[in-house]
Amino acid sequence: LVFENVVKRYGALTALAGVSLTLHRGEVVCLIGPSGSGKSTLLRCANALDPLDQGRISFDGHEVRSSEASVRLVRQRMGMVFQNFELFPHLTVLRNVTIGPTTVLKLGQAEADARARKLLAKVGLADKETSHPSALSGGQQQRVAIARALAMEPALMLFDEPTSALDPETIGEVLSVMKTLADEGMTMLVVTHEMDFARRVANRVAVFDKGRVIEEGTPQEIFTAPKVPRTRDFLSHLG
Ligand code: ATP
Ligand code: MG
Repeated sequence: LVFENVVKRYGALTALAGVSLTLHRGEVVCLIGPSGSGKSTLLRCANALDPLDQGRISFDGHEVRSSEASVRLVRQRMGMVFQNFELFPHLTVLRNVTIGPTTVLKLGQAEADARARKLLAKVGLADKETSHPSALSGGQQQRVAIARALAMEPALMLFDEPTSALDPETIGEVLSVMKTLADEGMTMLVVTHEMDFARRVANRVAVFDKGRVIEEGTPQEIFTAPKVPRTRDFLSHLG
């Protein structure tokens, strides 16, 4: 996934002021930075949810655009996990995970069920397939959301603060599923405030400020020897 000089404006506000970033296959890149710095906007642009004003995003050699074909490709090949899970409340856990494969990928129900059960087991929720989302904890709902994204067999997973709406006691179970995915070689772009996760799991960390990547490096470089004063300032204000 390659971002080249991506500019995104909302009216007079410049949310992304020229972001260039490359995510290689199998890499985990964490995006950190203050509120309003453009992290979510970058993910939305990658996912073709928002058109660009300037620049270019390419994914697996295809340019990400708002054309129908591009949107379809991106939605199938990129899994997206949001802060607030966004599960279908009227569907069981199992149906939440099978609906993408049956409707978009046209998988048969039996095959979709088998795939979903394997993924639910992987995220530790094999016993919850008949539950509805409202009967689950936040951490369990987020693990369903991850299983749902994985059911499309994406080449890339985008995470936007997947643990920031969770109770502290369920954060760890979600991070541990994400760490497993990373260890298995999944390509991941993760917006997070979990600096321990970024330190342990990321191959690279990109620091956002005011719509720009102000610094990019290994976790070691960013967390122990940040070069840019604004990065030091941001890190020193974290709780
Ligand atoms: P946070 O850490 O709070 O999630 P963020 O880094 O994800 O912040 P963005 O959500 O990308 O920040 O927002 C970047 C800027 O763009 C902000 O100033 C925000 O108010 C603005 N913005 C985002 N989405 C829209 C929109 N749909 N319409 C207008 N302005 C928007
Ligand atoms: Mg955000």
